[in-house]
Amino acid sequence: MEPSGQAELVMAFANTLDVEEGTDELTSQAGLARWLDTPRVDAGDHRLALDLRAGIRERLSLDGDADPEIVAAGDAALRELPVQVGLGGRLTPAGSTTAARRALGMLAVAWTHLVITEESQRIKRCAEHSCGWVFWDGSKNRSRRWCSMRVCGNRNKARAFASRQRAAQ
Ligand SMILES: [Zn+2]
Repeated sequence: MEPSGQAELVMAFANTLDVEEGTDELTSQAGLARWLDTPRVDAGDHRLALDLRAGIRERLSLDGDADPEIVAAGDAALRELPVQVGLGGRLTPAGSTTAARRALGMLAVAWTHLVITEESQRIKRCAEHSCGWVFWDGSKNRSRRWCSMRVCGNRNKARAFASRQRAAQ
């Protein structure tokens, strides 16, 4: 099963933070504006984006150890974004329809799509904490834990092996 465009969008957003490389495309308002392709973002937009991203990344943790406060802050960000719409074309909440909020709203709508289609269950954050890459699990039984078996999976196996060796001594 291939990821939808919405899944690609959410994963790209989540991966603007690269734990392994130690880089973050969204550290500044200018960086966020560039990523969203909007003329500018204000401090409030920036806060919302960071809370939303942190919440999504936390929610994708594979070990059931998501920090509820981080998830709650992400949920609060979701509620501020214009994701509800009437047939008359009015977005809710009102007053949240600057270019930046609309662009962030697209992310929120993409997330909604993933939850409705249950694609959200195929989006995971690599179980290797020093990696944390968000990836698509296209496997039949959705059993993947690492972004790449070759790199993170083997790294993990090597560590488990080393700790078993230590325990055996
Ligand atoms: Zn990884």
